[in-house]
Parts: sequence; C-alpha cells; structure tokens
Amino acid sequence: MRRTRPINCIIPPYILDKLVESDDREVRQAALNTLLTTARLRGERTVRASFAGAAAPGGARRTVFDCEHSEFLQTAAVARTEDGPESADESVNQAFDALGLTRDFYKEVFQRDSIDGRGMRLDGFVHFGEKVGNAYWDGRRMLFGDGDGLEFGDLTGSLEVIAHELTHGVTDHTSAFEYHKQSGALNESMSDVFGSLVKQWKLKQTAEEADWLIGADVWTPGIGGDALRSMKAPGTAFNHPLVGKDPQPDRMGKFVHLPDTRDGDNGGVHYNSGIPNKAFFLTAVGIGGFAWEAAGPLWFESLKASTAQDQFQDFADTTFLKAGELFGVGGPEQTAVLAAWQEVEIQVTGVPIGLARARSHPVNGRGGPGREDALAALTKQVMTLSDKVTALAKEVAALKATR
Ligand SMILES: [Zn+2]
Repeated sequence: MRRTRPINCIIPPYILDKLVESDDREVRQAALNTLLTTARLRGERTVRASFAGAAAPGGARRTVFDCEHSEFLQTAAVARTEDGPESADESVNQAFDALGLTRDFYKEVFQRDSIDGRGMRLDGFVHFGEKVGNAYWDGRRMLFGDGDGLEFGDLTGSLEVIAHELTHGVTDHTSAFEYHKQSGALNESMSDVFGSLVKQWKLKQTAEEADWLIGADVWTPGIGGDALRSMKAPGTAFNHPLVGKDPQPDRMGKFVHLPDTRDGDNGGVHYNSGIPNKAFFLTAVGIGGFAWEAAGPLWFESLKASTAQDQFQDFADTTFLKAGELFGVGGPEQTAVLAAWQEVEIQVTGVPIGLARARSHPVNGRGGPGREDALAALTKQVMTLSDKVTALAKEVAALKATR
C-alpha cells in the first residue's frame, strides 16, 4: 500500500499546538487559523498528489502570484515572472529571488535541472491567507503566509526555509523517503541540510562560519538569536515562553518515540531529524571548507542512492560508501563521515568501532607510542572492508537496474 504523503510545511506541529493554548487572544487566533489552513491543505493534497508526477516541464521558470490574503489560489494575480520587472512588493521579490537561488544552487552544485530534474516550473504564492504563520509545499507549488508579526515573520523572509520546502520536492523525486518515523526524519533532515547549504552557498560561508540555524528570520522576529532548529546543536534553537524548549535530540540515546499520527508528528519527524542533521554538520566541519563542495555532494549522492523506507542506519551506511566512491576509501572525507555518525551514536555497519572512536577523540591523553601503528592497521582494515562493501553495493545496484 502506498501511503499518501502529507503536505509539507515549515512549522512543526509541536510549535502550533502550544501556541493555540496561549492566553493572548491574538496569538491563539493566529495559531488556530494557521492550524485550520494546514488541515484544509492536507485534505487537498491527498487528491493532488496523484497528479504531481504529471507536471509539464517548464524550463524551471519562476512565477510569483499574489493571493491578496485569500486562500483561493485560482483568483491570485500574477505579480512577477522571469520576463517582467521587479515588483514594488518586497514579499514578491523575496519569494522570486529565493526560488531562483534554490534553482541555481541545484543546477550549479549538483547539475540538477529544477526540483524534478526535468526543469519543473517554480510557482510561488505570497500573502496566502490572513496572517498565516506557515509556508507550504504542496507537491507543485509554494505557498507563503505573512505571519502574525509576533511569533512568525513574513515567511518569504528566509532563504533556507524556502530551500527547505523545495527540497521536499527534490526528495519526493529521488529517494521518496516515506514521511513517518525514521525515513520521515531523514526526509526532514534532507530539507534542512540542503536548505542550509543554499544559504551558505549564497553567503559564501565555510562550514565553520555558517550559523547552521533554520528559520532564524521567520521564527519570533522580535526575539534575537533563536530559530526553529539548530543543526549544529539540536535542542538549543529556542526556549519560548509558550512553546518551551526546542525538543530535538542530537544523538540516538535521546531518540524521541512518538506515535505515527499527526499529533505524534508522524512519529517525530521534526524531532529526530536533529540526529542526521547533527551528523551532516559534523561531517561538514570535519572535512572543512565550503560544505557544498564535499559534504553536500556526498549527501546528495546518498539521497539519490537511498530508497523510501531507509532508516538512519541505512543512510549512515550509504554516506560511508559514497564517501569512499567519491573521494577515496579511507580518505579524510570517509573518516569524517565515520566520526560524525559515531558521535550521534550510529555505528556505520562493517567498520571497526576502534577507528572511529580513536578519530573522534584525538586529544584524550591515551595516545602515545604504538597508537599510530594501531590506527594505521585499522585504517588498512577499513579500506579492505569498504572496498568489498563498495563492490557489493555496485553489484546490488546493477541487479536493481536490471530488475
Ligand atoms: Zn519540512
């Protein structure tokens, strides 16, 4: 049975559910309105999903529409096109630019032609509804609320949020990670990873310079320094008077078990994405330099090589294999991948634990004569092993292709 994927939106249910309990009438009203809008869109998506694959190629051209605070897309006016002039409306231009930057990032960095790899057109709808505190990807287009100005700013104001949503489309057209439990958390994580990379690429920031925050500009615009999520330090992105503390775990020992329901965030997809997010961050800083140059392609190739029901363990193993294929077995990239997953408490399959442990704690006083030799021997072992695994994986891929 094929499960229908829910509509993707940037604000996790654990935030909106808390805001509707607010004593402040305005906050409560805005959150309730956003929840109702989200529920309505979710119902429509079930129908629309079956047409998603049929979208005509469009040269990846952008069109931004102005909903003028209505939720009926049919009456939205064209506000900006590829050929037309800039708009006088900042939201229109912000959405247009962010759609373009995300498209250009995928093209230049991964040689991917738009979301579906076939030049899918990019349609954005701004001023969607009244003070809607959310942004949506419905499989075909992006919808942006204006926010209530208190808890949420204008949703066109964050490049990584827009790139996050569009990446849900990329994932749908590649691994199609099922949107529940661990595969769903991987789906969420892909969107944060590439969302953050688009921003780093635009700002020309190295992995060390980047803030690794998601949604800092749209979540509580009045409070500085907080964000929806932190990839660098999951669980520390916010501490909000109504919502409480950021609930993301940063390692398997803190994995959040929730039911596979809407109230359970589809099995905690927005919670546990913190774990693979942290693994990507650690890989990127472990390799150093611009994250989109090595860590990014490594993750993207792994996404393409993954299948819909893959779990964290599968994805960790895939990234390890891909690091060997792309950059050389036993090289610094593969070592960084090993150490990163080790730190979030996932042991890559088939690799001696000792190597990753030695590498992830280089300065612990336990070094000394003999340690280097042991490391060298282990590295050799890893290389031999992963050569075998790579060969095996290729055979499996070949078999799959002929199926
Ligand atoms: Zn998402």
